[in-house]
Amino acid sequence: MPSPLTSFDRAMSFLRATFDRLKLSTKEKTLLSTPQHILHHNISFKLDNGKMMKVPSYRVQFNNARGPYKGGIRYHLEADIEEVKALAALMAIKTAVVNIPFGGAKGGIQIDPKKLSSSELERLSRAYILSIANDIGPDIDVPAPDVNTNPQIMAWMRDEYEKTKHVYAPDLITGKPLSYGGSLGRDKATARGGFFILQELAKLEPPNLRNARVAIQGFGNAGSEIAMFLHDAGAQIVAVSDSQGGIYSYVGLDPIRIEKYKKETGSVRGQYCKGSVCDLKRLKMDATEVISNDDLLLTDCDILIPAALDNVITAKNAKNIRAKIILELANGPVSPEADVILKKKGVIVVPDVLANAGGVTVSYFEWVQGRSGDQWTAEKVDRELKRIMLQSFDDVRAEAKRNDLTYREAAFNVAVLRIVDAMRVRGWVNGTKGK
Ligand code: GLU
Repeated sequence: MPSPLTSFDRAMSFLRATFDRLKLSTKEKTLLSTPQHILHHNISFKLDNGKMMKVPSYRVQFNNARGPYKGGIRYHLEADIEEVKALAALMAIKTAVVNIPFGGAKGGIQIDPKKLSSSELERLSRAYILSIANDIGPDIDVPAPDVNTNPQIMAWMRDEYEKTKHVYAPDLITGKPLSYGGSLGRDKATARGGFFILQELAKLEPPNLRNARVAIQGFGNAGSEIAMFLHDAGAQIVAVSDSQGGIYSYVGLDPIRIEKYKKETGSVRGQYCKGSVCDLKRLKMDATEVISNDDLLLTDCDILIPAALDNVITAKNAKNIRAKIILELANGPVSPEADVILKKKGVIVVPDVLANAGGVTVSYFEWVQGRSGDQWTAEKVDRELKRIMLQSFDDVRAEAKRNDLTYREAAFNVAVLRIVDAMRVRGWVNGTKGK
């Protein structure tokens, strides 16, 4: 049975375990369990047929003890308040794990954007940013892309904000197009950061990346890019999938070819199947099989990379996972119950708050460039990203070793201690003002 908990319950379950390990005070626990601000607006925008559509939208500003709120905006039917709250809390942890000077936030619009035309999407994005314009800003809250949002959407949002506020604000939002204040390397940053961690891990744990067998769920930006990095490093990509299902090959798949066919046909299976009808001869010739998303998670492989949805590894399937290492490129793919089972099985889980933190790290570089007017080279972005990812992995590994913890437990310890430290020195915990 899938976890009966909400996304927020699941995030809180990881946090509460951390509070217990660190013996936090009641005040500290309350501050870290409660979003500081919840913005909720039912926003209206015009459809191409002239009618108005109204949709619920959110921005949850979870904690800003360490700096301005930071986090993406997702467009998804399931982006309800519970999910946005959970993701905002995870962002506060993530920015603290990589020690960049931000807090945590998340935005969400409860809509299926695939049903909208480009002009409808633009009107929706402008309406959303207008609804929160007074509560965000380069020093207050810095949004970014997330599920189903992209650089074009960030550009519309910055443009709308600048027009409304009569300001120049290249540091308002990150993940922008290169021609309008974006940073080199932002598009591949999530995958690149995860790849750096796997390279480090491979120095400690078998297998060598060169011989590793990898299965990847989700072939969007993060999933496809990490497939390329791993393929270039000599790993064998044995399985990939997207929302329409997946393919498996024991001899290995070519991610460049998959990307090409996905672009042409709309799915990773598209080169073999039209709907549910597949070309069995071609599949056999390529030693490839069609698999479901559930099968993908149970693939016999060394490294499993969930890079799509949350809550896909649960109490139901965790015991049957065969991978030795799980790299969480998606946010929240492993439920708390599954986490316990994986720990018992000895599966190494690199948690989302570390594994996919490359994205927000390069967002930080973009924000710095926006504030200074400077433009970094691709080499500088890559070098700095590597430095931060390796330092963060070192911090987490040292904490794990010191206290005999999993990487998730250690990452949460490191992050919560950093946030609590900031709250203490700011006088939020014992000060006369509180917060
Ligand atoms: N949406 C990404 C994440 O979940 C990036 C957030 C950002 O760059 O602010 O980490």
